[in-house]
Amino acid sequence: MDLIYLDNNATTPLLPAVWEAMRPFAVEAYGNPASAHAAGRRARRGLEDAREQTAALLGARPDEVVFTSGATEANNLALFGLAGDPPGRLLASPVEHPSVSEPLRQLAASGFSLEGPPVDAEGVVDADALCRLWRSDTRLIAVMLANHETGTVQPVADLARQLDGRAAFHCDATQAVGRLPVHFGDLGVTTLALSAHKFHGPKGVGALLLRRGTKLRPRAWGGHQQQGRRPGTEAVALAVGLAAALDLACREMEQRTQMVRSLRDQFLAGLRETAGPVVLNGPASGGVPHTVNVSFPGLKADALLMSLDLADVACSTGSACSSGSLLPSPVLRAMGASELLSAMRFSLSALLTPAEIDEAVRRIAAAVRRLRHGAALE
Ligand code: PMP
Repeated sequence: MDLIYLDNNATTPLLPAVWEAMRPFAVEAYGNPASAHAAGRRARRGLEDAREQTAALLGARPDEVVFTSGATEANNLALFGLAGDPPGRLLASPVEHPSVSEPLRQLAASGFSLEGPPVDAEGVVDADALCRLWRSDTRLIAVMLANHETGTVQPVADLARQLDGRAAFHCDATQAVGRLPVHFGDLGVTTLALSAHKFHGPKGVGALLLRRGTKLRPRAWGGHQQQGRRPGTEAVALAVGLAAALDLACREMEQRTQMVRSLRDQFLAGLRETAGPVVLNGPASGGVPHTVNVSFPGLKADALLMSLDLADVACSTGSACSSGSLLPSPVLRAMGASELLSAMRFSLSALLTPAEIDEAVRRIAAAVRRLRHGAALE
């Protein structure tokens, strides 16, 4: 058995059916969607069909969909675009992805104040604390839907309801869209970010959903595309790929989720039996089942990652690597996790088979035993 890919939160393989849907818009319908001739109109139709389909699948209206290059751009567009002038107060959960937390830090450096509520041991935001932090100068609140490191799902609809439109609310739903039912209207947020390559679509395309009537300051100027909110010639084939991948993900969501749940149970049971002790970081149930974040007490995550790479298992550490040394993950730290530096993130997809999971457990257990033995001899 070759490479076993357990890094589906980093990216997922493109499905052949998605590639087939995109192909005609890369090769034949190559016109610029802004052009007034037939070739342009054909491209424009593909783009607008993709926009309508994306909107319908996510409970939004077509004019609320802004295609971007991915979720990093969508998050930046929302945060800088909504923060406003003069600087005010920003509230964000402490477990946001860097493409949210870093723009917020930039805004804080330019005069905004930034605060956040704590999370519990499973990484869920304290809703009461968030509401207590609100003040009349609060401009923007950012709480993600599903966490990239732990799979924890935040009660975003409840939070938005409690805050009742008292400030713009941005939700990074990158790890949720395509895996959980997401309805933009029902969530009640102002903006929502997503990225196609997290649900078997192409890399380089995502979207920002933006509630109708919301004022958004663009990040770039120089074109009228997408109502000037994101000027530049639209990547038609990529947008078509996003819509096709989302359509498949929504149609197959139930089967995929069942499959991933069963693979997750098999994986965790196997690790506990043959590579214990292991500590689960994140929710035991109720999160996005694709994400399995576990610590192997006594081991160093970077050493295990290297061993697993040699054993052809692709996964990632739960910690950020900075100039060769591991830094504790801010997400796990905010949760008060104890085994920060031995945390590994395995992320699954419905394309995996039970046989691959068994083989992955065997390879992981062998690497863990070897490293634990080596550590004991040191
Ligand atoms: N937000 C979250 C929660 C993510 O997991 C990621 C991808 N790692 C991003 C944002 C950034 O997405 P993209 O790769 O499309 O820029």
